[in-house]
Amino acid sequence: MTPGAEASGSQPGEHAPVTPDWTCGSCGDDWPCATKRHRLLAEYQRDRAALSVYLGSCLAAATRDLRSAPVSSLQDRFIGWVPRSPRTT
Ligand SMILES: [Zn+2]
Repeated sequence: MTPGAEASGSQPGEHAPVTPDWTCGSCGDDWPCATKRHRLLAEYQRDRAALSVYLGSCLAAATRDLRSAPVSSLQDRFIGWVPRSPRTT
């Protein structure tokens, strides 16, 4: 028998943000969590500019949702983790 890998409706491994708290829907960490960051880098490794645009839009939305959080810490959380230059492997 095969394990039931197909869950209908939700995708547990998606690591999508849950608003307005901006926590990860899969692991509960602050979004973007470590897993999501890794996936974003892989997804946008050839287009860092698009990644910056995407994260910038998330930051803008999170800034509106998380009004009690300092903007500088949100910037650090959403954008500050992105490596400045692409890694060559
Ligand atoms: Zn996660």
